[in-house]
Amino acid sequence: MNPSDSREVLAGASPETADARRLRGRLSRRSALVAGAAGVVGLAGAASLFDLFSKWRDSEAPADIFKADAPKEDLWALWQERGWVKEASHYLKLGRNVQCKICPNNCLLSPGDRSHCRNKINIAGTLYTMVYGNPCVFHVDPVEKKPLFHFLPGTRTFSLATSGCVFRCLNCQNWEISQKKPEETKDPRGPELRLRPPLPERLSLNQIARLSLFPVDAAAMAESLGCPSISYTYSEPTSFYEYTADTCKAARDRKLRNIVVSCGSIEERPARDLYQFVDAAHVDLKGFEEGVYERLNGGKLQTILRALKTLKEMSVWFEIINLVVPTYTDNLEAIRRMCGWIAKELGADRPLHFSRFHPQHKLTHLTPTPVETLLQAREAARAEGLHYVYIGNVPGLKDAESTFCPACKKPVIRRDVFAVTAFDLAAGACRYCGAAIAGVWK
Ligand code: SF4
Repeated sequence: MNPSDSREVLAGASPETADARRLRGRLSRRSALVAGAAGVVGLAGAASLFDLFSKWRDSEAPADIFKADAPKEDLWALWQERGWVKEASHYLKLGRNVQCKICPNNCLLSPGDRSHCRNKINIAGTLYTMVYGNPCVFHVDPVEKKPLFHFLPGTRTFSLATSGCVFRCLNCQNWEISQKKPEETKDPRGPELRLRPPLPERLSLNQIARLSLFPVDAAAMAESLGCPSISYTYSEPTSFYEYTADTCKAARDRKLRNIVVSCGSIEERPARDLYQFVDAAHVDLKGFEEGVYERLNGGKLQTILRALKTLKEMSVWFEIINLVVPTYTDNLEAIRRMCGWIAKELGADRPLHFSRFHPQHKLTHLTPTPVETLLQAREAARAEGLHYVYIGNVPGLKDAESTFCPACKKPVIRRDVFAVTAFDLAAGACRYCGAAIAGVWK
């Protein structure tokens, strides 16, 4: 390949070839290793060499993709006509191949291929997102539902999602949209329906499949509905990165806040480009053992830890959720190590929400997390010094979702499901002793 055929496409940045050069080096190293492994199999024993090679390949290789699965001409034309297509940001052009650099899946696509997250395609050497301005879900939620307990409590947030996800969680609760292609959730046929305020009283499923909600319209809609924020949620905003980024900017233009609800699996550069427009994040730290992350979610722990540190460094308010899945992430020793890491690296004021697992998607054979396990996890978190530890998905459990002042130990915020029922803060401080409570309160 001619080196001049490779370039990097970034959000507003000039072409740069360092990553492309690294990738080419990696590809040629890989070819050499494959040839080397094949050459010595007879001497060293096939099984052990195969294991070694598989291990190396799994840690380096781009994720599985959907070969030759881009929409065919008629559908692609309709998608373009609707404005649901945009050239992707943060990718490498490698001749007619492309490589997305948004998440560690690093999808490497030939013309006509579709990405691991299902939302991106290579058309004639250009990477496009198919989920621009076409959410398959939108809703107004209490901000507590994200859950965010220390960010504008009691407010409502305009929430939207498209299809697709960078992960493959066995326990996904939104798999009907996260594990679907854009064409399975949206339908560009029929007259155009561009949603703008005011929100119609009724929208049929057919209309929702057809409608467009472009960034400026989403911001206008949030404002018209009295929501001080927009949440990118339900599926995975990393997989609809370009739509999220542009909507964040449109929201800022209207002085609205942006909330990202994410698995945190994102590369450093796109993370920094996006987080400058983000006011709050809710990140799933799904476990603290690399092997379990791989098996349960198809993700990499170290990437998520780095994203959490980046959020902290960029002064974005964020809270962490940890779903305790029996037999996968209920190891108390690992939970203790996770809490210690949070306290040390992110600070004792970082809220942590333990959440109860309920059997779903591919884990219907498991039982719900025993409440006793959740109580032990909370105990471990407090013992590691965390100030704000919550238990979710256990209705009726006393004080599971209350905020206690770390200084005088009195409850300062009480919640019932997603509603704030008592609020004893004044200017972000405990009303009883005056100690500051971490968060964004106005
Ligand atoms: S965001 Fe999607 S296309 Fe990009 S690397 Fe991740 S899975 Fe692949």
